Amino acid sequence: MKERDIIIIGSGPAGLTSAIYSGRAGHRTLVIEGVPAGGQLLTTTDVENFPGFPEGISGPDLIDNMRRQAQRFGTEFLMKDATFIDFRSYPFKVQAEGDEYSARAIIIATGAKARYLDIPSVEAFRGRGISACATCDGFFYRDSILFVIGGGDTAVEEAIFLTKFAKEVNVVHRRNELRAEKYMQDKLFENPKIKVIWDSVVVDIKGTKEAGVKWIILKNIRTGELTERDADGIFMGIGHSPATSIFEGQIALDDNGYIVCTEGARTSVKGVFAAGDVRDPHFRQAIAAAGTGCKAAIEADRFLRDGKQ
Ligand code: NAP
Repeated sequence: MKERDIIIIGSGPAGLTSAIYSGRAGHRTLVIEGVPAGGQLLTTTDVENFPGFPEGISGPDLIDNMRRQAQRFGTEFLMKDATFIDFRSYPFKVQAEGDEYSARAIIIATGAKARYLDIPSVEAFRGRGISACATCDGFFYRDSILFVIGGGDTAVEEAIFLTKFAKEVNVVHRRNELRAEKYMQDKLFENPKIKVIWDSVVVDIKGTKEAGVKWIILKNIRTGELTERDADGIFMGIGHSPATSIFEGQIALDDNGYIVCTEGARTSVKGVFAAGDVRDPHFRQAIAAAGTGCKAAIEADRFLRDGKQ
């Protein structure tokens, strides 16, 4: 079993910021990156609100910068998924697809994953016309008719991005006002390829095994009216769930599965800290994740130096 001082699980802005601080504090630091590595920023086209980049920066470039910065301070990276962590023994034991490590402190920064609508046809057509990543899959939908579900920043950002390829993008939102940032809403409304279908939900999705999605059936929740529309692709933008399933039963989680944390980064287990979206259902911003990544590494450093938590 290989020994490390601090193991960070996750490689988005939270995990990588923790790695920069942990490496600079002189700790033997390993980041178990997860597959794919890089977190949600990897599928974000333009990040315009991360301070320090007046012209904006692409999500992948921002992640690459942070990763190289962490490497400069001696951080090691393992591109595997953490598969089991034993918080009951100390030093903690961490398994990652066949590799075994011990760690004197752990920082959980596993982030959150896109949610899909809970209707059977969504599962049936997943990957065949249903996606939750416009940056990954938009390219396959040239000149097509697309639907984006949701009214937050993710849905609006995905819809705008998809107009690069599609001939028509319809945003389906269950209320009559968007939740997205005003600046993003303005960009959405000024785009001639985008229409918003208000007060509506998806009732069903139809298609064929060979061709994938062909139609979407929507219901106006005010009038009850059902509409069937041609659809080539449907993108989910309805929020995220925290990636905490491997920690269940070992660490305190709230009712929605988020890690319960102090204002700093301490969890219910001494020596285990949490950073980023995995502990934050409210702000969910790259800069906020980086901020808690910093706090987690400082608290882990203090814990390793004087055992205080
Ligand atoms: P979100 O803000 O929680 O929005 C989710 C949207 O999906 C809401 O409009 C919600 O409707 C709708 N929704 C949820 N469950 C649904 C269901 N079962 N059926 C139909 N609609 C459903 O999630 P998000 O857009 O992923 O954003 C999360 C956080 O990340 C936010 O803080 C956001 O600012 C941030 N973010 C930032 C950027 C950026 O700055 N570039 C990009 C993406 C995300 P209601 O409005 O009715 O609740």
